[in-house]
Amino acid sequence: MPLELGRLHPDPTPKQRELVLRARALGQEKFAHRAEKYDREGSFPFENYDDLRAEGFLGLTIPESYGGLGADFETYCMVSAELGRWCGTTALTFNMHAATLLWSNQMADDMPMTDEKRKTHEKRRAMLYEKVIRDGSIFAQPFSEPNTAAAAGKSPFGTTAKRTDGGWIVNGVKHFASLSGAANYYGLLCTEDQGPDVEQSPKDTMYLAVPADSDGVTISGEWDVLGMRGTVSKTITFKDVFVPEDFMVLPTGLYYHGARYWPHMFTTLCPTYLGLSQAAFDFTMNYLTGNIEGGPPKGGEARLSPAKQMSIAEMRVKLEQSKALFYRVIKEARYKPEKADRLRAYCSQITVMEGANDICRLAIRTCGGRTIFKKYPLERYYRDSRCGSLMLPWTPEICMERLGRESVQDPGEVEPLD
Ligand SMILES: Cc1cc2nc3c(=O)[nH]c(=O)nc-3n(C[C@H](O)[C@H](O)[C@H](O)COP(=O)(O)OP(=O)(O)OC[C@H]3O[C@@H](n4cnc5c(N)ncnc54)[C@H](O)[C@@H]3O)c2cc1C
Repeated sequence: MPLELGRLHPDPTPKQRELVLRARALGQEKFAHRAEKYDREGSFPFENYDDLRAEGFLGLTIPESYGGLGADFETYCMVSAELGRWCGTTALTFNMHAATLLWSNQMADDMPMTDEKRKTHEKRRAMLYEKVIRDGSIFAQPFSEPNTAAAAGKSPFGTTAKRTDGGWIVNGVKHFASLSGAANYYGLLCTEDQGPDVEQSPKDTMYLAVPADSDGVTISGEWDVLGMRGTVSKTITFKDVFVPEDFMVLPTGLYYHGARYWPHMFTTLCPTYLGLSQAAFDFTMNYLTGNIEGGPPKGGEARLSPAKQMSIAEMRVKLEQSKALFYRVIKEARYKPEKADRLRAYCSQITVMEGANDICRLAIRTCGGRTIFKKYPLERYYRDSRCGSLMLPWTPEICMERLGRESVQDPGEVEPLD
């Protein structure tokens, strides 16, 4: 039992508390013990997903009226951080699933749609939710492409969907697709191909749910990487894949609209790394106080060294900075947030993503060389946490650029929807 079971959130509602404690029980009792195996093998945490399914957590972000647990954006982020504390791979992949479903309700409900469009969206999402609640299906989010800057929001997606009888024909390549080979549906971002005379635009971004067993879907490449090895984020090629008309996560154009007007949607990758920060801190406390086998003796000198106490203080400061910013930011998440709130979300993204690896770096230095052995989780936290800054579209570099630019000039309101 870690000494530092410190609350991840200062002021949870009863429902948030209950869900976080359920996630903690799963993580502490089951996921933490399996994490080393998935990391070593680079294999997907299927057993963890069986547990998540049994606990009803696959429906975490599905509204209660559809049989889900009804976690809203803030609640989801809190649960995700708790999962990240015990297994980074599980939390990060679970984010792809849970965020897909969350965006299709809380975010979609906030955004303008004609009555007709909303009715169709309602019918489609109910069908997708049923696949999760009834069949236990898992969703992935293959957005990133090797040959376009679309994931960073700079160009239309190179993957296209062309209208055909009863649906769409999809063509394109996605890389870094977490849950490749594990998900039942690939929540795919692509551009509507409206023929050679119509210029493609990010505004025509579509969000389809492609059944993973469709003809024309192939997985390739290797995934032998530094960290987050169990995410199995390989390349997926879509060659003339037929997707039925109703298999749509959001109506055409809504993802683009959400990216501009519900920008906090991109902060859902953070809590995984916040959880890793907490895990590295917990480990350090336990190790130095003699609560971990092979470490310094209980009541030994290590914890009394001023150098170690300074490092622990530094870690705690960084951890509290990450938590304070992140938990403020997720409370501010909404449709059309104030500019200051959006800029604060960039600050949070940088603080959490860069802070996680920094805290792990300090943890290894403070605990010492024995903790780089694979029998301890610290070196895995260190490698996993390094990946946070690589996640598009809100990498720290991109966030820094926006922060700097928008802080010195007022670009006015974001473009109106047309
Ligand atoms: C563990 C892991 C899991 C992932 N899972 C998924 C997933 O499930 N789905 C998915 O879609 N993607 C996923 N990704 C992909 C991720 O979002 C990136 O697409 C991937 O890391 C490749 O990015 P890149 O740095 O090579 O991209 P590039 O776009 O080539 O960027 C290179 C560098 O330039 C910076 N950069 C890029 N554009 C700009 C800009 N406009 N301004 C300033 N700097 C810029 C980036 O920050 C980066 O440092 C995952 C990545 C990792 C590491």
